Amino acid sequence: MYRNFKMVSNVVYGRGCFSQLDDILSEKRKGRNSSMVFIVDDVFEDSDIRERLPVNDRDLVLWINVDDEPKTVYVDELTQQVKTVLNDIPDGVIGIGGGSTMDIAKAVALMLTNPGSSADYQGWDLIKQPAVYHVGIPTLSGTGAEVSRTTVLTGPEKKLGLNSDYTVFDQIVLDPELISGAPKDQRFYTGMDCFIHCVESLTGTYLNAFSQGYGEKAYDLCKAVFLEEAPENDDNLMMASYFGGMSIAYSQVGICHALSYGLSFVLGVHHGIGNSIVFDYLEDFYAEGVAEFRQMLKRQGLELPRNLVAGIEQDKLEKMVDVALVLEPLWENALGMDWKKKMTRDIIKELYLKM
Ligand code: NAD
Ligand code: ZN
Repeated sequence: MYRNFKMVSNVVYGRGCFSQLDDILSEKRKGRNSSMVFIVDDVFEDSDIRERLPVNDRDLVLWINVDDEPKTVYVDELTQQVKTVLNDIPDGVIGIGGGSTMDIAKAVALMLTNPGSSADYQGWDLIKQPAVYHVGIPTLSGTGAEVSRTTVLTGPEKKLGLNSDYTVFDQIVLDPELISGAPKDQRFYTGMDCFIHCVESLTGTYLNAFSQGYGEKAYDLCKAVFLEEAPENDDNLMMASYFGGMSIAYSQVGICHALSYGLSFVLGVHHGIGNSIVFDYLEDFYAEGVAEFRQMLKRQGLELPRNLVAGIEQDKLEKMVDVALVLEPLWENALGMDWKKKMTRDIIKELYLKM
C-alpha cells in the first residue's frame, strides 16, 4: 500500500509576503468575536515583527522561549493558557520562528481540540480530532517543519513527534526576508539539518522517484548556499528546506537522525547542531555526504563542539542507545530490512564515545 499523505494546503512564497498575513487570516476569522493566537519566538520581542503582527483586539500573542527544544509539558501549559485567557477555542494558531516554534504552534493547535496531555499522542496517528486552523512562518530554514506531518516533542519517556495528518499546517508563509538575520552558526546548523535529510533520503532503501526529485534539488541548493556567496542565498535556503522536507515525507531519515535523537534526549543538544556533531563521524555510512559537509563547515569558518560524550556515565550512554534504537524505520531505511544484523549496541556506543 502506498501512503496517501496530507500536504500543506496553501503556500505563499516571496520576499515581503509576510505582509499578506492579515489578508490571509481575515478569511479565516469567524465573525466579530474571532480570536487568533500568535506563537512567536521571543528572540523577536524587540524586533519589527512585533509591529508587523496583524493583531486584532481579541487576539493573543504568546512570546515563547525555545532555549530548550519543545517539551510536552510546555505545550500543555501553553494550551491551558490559551484556553484560560480566551475562554474559547481560537479560529487559528500562527507559529512564527524556527523549527521549535513551528512545532509548538502545531502541537498547541492539535491539543486545543484533543483531550489530555500532548505526551499521550507521541507516536503515529494517535491524534483523533482535527486541529485548529494553523499557520507556519519560518524564520530559520532547514528543518522542513513547515511541510512535515510531525511536531517533535520531548516527553517524560521519549523524544517523539505527534505524527498525524492533522499535524500538517493549513497555510505556510515563506518569506526569505525573515531568515536574513539569523546568526551564522545557527543558520548553518539548521541548514545542515536539511542537507542531512537529503543525504539520508537519497542513500536510503526507501528512496523513490518522488523523494529523489525533491532530495536532489535540495541537496544542490544547500551546497550552493553554503559554498558560495550569492544574493539569492536566503531564497534558495528557504526552498531547500521545503524540498528537503518533501523528500523525507515520502522516504525517511537515517542513522544520523537516530543517533542525534539520543544525543539530544540525554544531553539536551539542539537538533541541527546535534545532527552536525553526529554526521561528522558517519563517513563509513555516508562518505560523499560527509566529505561535502566538511567542505561547507570549513567554508563557513565554523568548528564543531567535541568531546561531549567522552567520560559520560554508563546509564546515560545506555539511555542514548535506547532512544536511538527505538527509531526502527530510520535504521531500516539506512541499512535495509536486516539492519539488526548490521547495527549493534556496541557499534552505536563506539560511535557515541567518539563524539
Ligand atoms: P530553533 O527553532 O530551535 O531555534 C534555534 C535558535 O535560533 C533559537 O535560539 C531561536 O530563538 C533562534 N532563532 C530562530 N530564528 C531566528 C532568526 N531569524 N534570527 C535570530 N535567531 C533566530 O531552530 P531550528 O533548527 O529551526 O529547529 C530545531 C527544532 O526543530 C528542534 O526542536 C527539532 O526537534 C525540530 N524539528 C522538527 C521537524 C519537524 O518535521 N517537525 C524536523 C526537524 C527538526
Ligand atoms: Zn532533521
